[in-house]
Amino acid sequence: AALRGHQAEVIDHLTAGGDALLLMPTGGGKSVCYQIPSLLREGTGIIVSPLIALMQDQVGAVTQLGLKAAFLNSTLSMREAADVERRLLGGDIDLLYIAPERLLQPRTLELLDKAAIALFAIDEAHCVSQWGHDFRPEYLQLSVLAERYPGVPRLACTATADERTRAEILTNLRLEGGRVYVGGFDRPNIRYRVVPKDEPRKQLLKFLRDEHAGDAGIVYCLARKKTEETAAFLVQNGIPAVAYHAGLEAAVRRRHQERFLNEDGLVVCATIAFGMGIDKPDVRFVAHLDLPKSVEGYYQETGRAGRDGLPANAWLCYGLQDVVMLRKLVDDGEGDEMHRRRASQQLDAMLGYCEVTACRRQRLLAHFGEVMPEPCGNCDTCLWPPETFDATVVAQKALSCVARTGQRFGAQHIIEVLRGGAAER
Ligand code: ZN
Repeated sequence: AALRGHQAEVIDHLTAGGDALLLMPTGGGKSVCYQIPSLLREGTGIIVSPLIALMQDQVGAVTQLGLKAAFLNSTLSMREAADVERRLLGGDIDLLYIAPERLLQPRTLELLDKAAIALFAIDEAHCVSQWGHDFRPEYLQLSVLAERYPGVPRLACTATADERTRAEILTNLRLEGGRVYVGGFDRPNIRYRVVPKDEPRKQLLKFLRDEHAGDAGIVYCLARKKTEETAAFLVQNGIPAVAYHAGLEAAVRRRHQERFLNEDGLVVCATIAFGMGIDKPDVRFVAHLDLPKSVEGYYQETGRAGRDGLPANAWLCYGLQDVVMLRKLVDDGEGDEMHRRRASQQLDAMLGYCEVTACRRQRLLAHFGEVMPEPCGNCDTCLWPPETFDATVVAQKALSCVARTGQRFGAQHIIEVLRGGAAER
C-alpha cells in the first residue's frame, strides 16, 4: 500500500538517524513509521509499550507481514524470556516489544548494551505527561535511553496529546532536538479542486497565471511525451518549466530535479516517476492534467504541495474521456483478473472523488478511514457548492430512449429524439 500523510517523511527522518515525535490518530498507520526504519537500519527496533495485553497480537500481526518479532514482558516464563534474549543478541529479531518497567530493569539495559539496536519507538508517549490522565511514573525514566544510547534514533508516538502534553513529551523524553509530526491524513493547508476538462493546457496556463505567478509546482501528466509538450508550452508562455520522466537520461533527470530543488519558481511537468524522496517545503501547487489511477496515488502526489504548512493548491483537470481511456488501459492491461478488478475499483474510487458534490476533503479522508465531522471549508465544493438536482426521472427517460431506439445510437441522436428534434434522421 502507498504511504500516506507524513509517513514517508517520518520514515526518511528516522532512517537517517533523527529523533521525532509523531502524533497520529489510531489506525492512522503509526506502526509502519517505525517498522520500516527498523528494517532499513542495522539491528533490532525496540518498541516500548505499556499495553502488555496487546503485545502478543502485535507480534502476531507483524509476523504475518514476514517480520521477525518477539516481546519481553512479565507474562513470559524465565525460559521463554531467555530464548527471546538469545535471539536478540543473535540478531534474529526485527522488532522487539517491551514493557517500560521491564526495559528499565538494570538487567535488561545491560542486555540492550550488548545488542545492535536500530531505533527506539516509545508508544503511548503521552503516558510521560504528569498532567495527562495516563501518567505512568516509569515513563519518566525512559529519558535514560537518550543518555545511554545517544546514537540510536528515538520516535515517540501517541494518538492523543494537546500542546502542553506535547511539550512535556519532548522535555521528559529528551527529544528537544527532534522533529514533531502532527496529524493523520489531513493536510488542511492544501485546497483540493477539480475542474471540468475543456481545454486543459489553456486552463492550466490560466490557473498558473492567476494564482501561481512565480511559484514552484508540479504538473503531473500520464504520458512521457505529454510532460515534454506541456513543459515546452509553458516555456513558450513565459513560465520556467522542465520535463521529468523515466525515459530521460539519468543526467538530465538529475539536473532537472536539482533545479527544481534549488531554484525559485520552477515548474516540473512530470510523470509519477517524479516525487519519491523529494522534500521541497515550498511547492505551492500540484496540478494533474490527467486523472490519476488511484486515490492513494493522487493523495501521495498532492501531498508534495505545501509541506511548509502555507496555503497550497491541489488542482485536477478531469473529463470523462480520461475515465474511458484509463478504463481501457485497465482492460487491456497486464496482470490477472484480480489485478484488473483491483485497478478498476481504484479507478471507481477516483471517479467518485471527482464527482462528489459534498466536501471533497471529507471524501478523501474517508477513503483512508479518517472521519471528518464537519465540511472542511477549504475545498472547491465547500467554497463554491455545485448545484444539484434530482435527475432520477431524466436518467430513466434517457435509458428508456436508448433501449427503445435499439441501443444503436450515440448520445447526440438520443438527445434529439428525447427533445423531439425535427431532423430527418
Ligand atoms: Zn471541503
